[in-house]
Amino acid sequence: MNLFNKNKECIHSKVSPDKDAQYCPDCGKYIENKWYLTRCSCCNIKRRSIVKFGEIMPETKYCPNCGSEKFYIERIKSINFIDINFAVLIKEINEELSKNRTQSWLERENTEPIKLLGFNLGFN
Ligand SMILES: [Zn+2]
Ligand SMILES: [Zn+2]
Repeated sequence: MNLFNKNKECIHSKVSPDKDAQYCPDCGKYIENKWYLTRCSCCNIKRRSIVKFGEIMPETKYCPNCGSEKFYIERIKSINFIDINFAVLIKEINEELSKNRTQSWLERENTEPIKLLGFNLGFN
């Protein structure tokens, strides 16, 4: 499972991050911009977040405030100037609204970021 296979998969680079959602001009999929950040499970402060190997995680292994390794992922409904320093943007395909739904269900399983996110949300 590789969400960031740039050779084959469209990365929707023309989808503007300042919109909630729009159709990607390169692949025609309906792309939803979703912002996430990680918080420390122990002291609850915001952690700087990155996407690595298709997973959202804190930039550093341990919380700079309390030293805990545990974190959880929070969805940000509306991004602001403070949170943007901590958050990561995930461009999620909304298959229901996409015009060119040609992929099979099997392929869709492999390319849908929400599946992985769902897995991560249960992890804290
Ligand atoms: Zn695209
Ligand atoms: Zn902490």
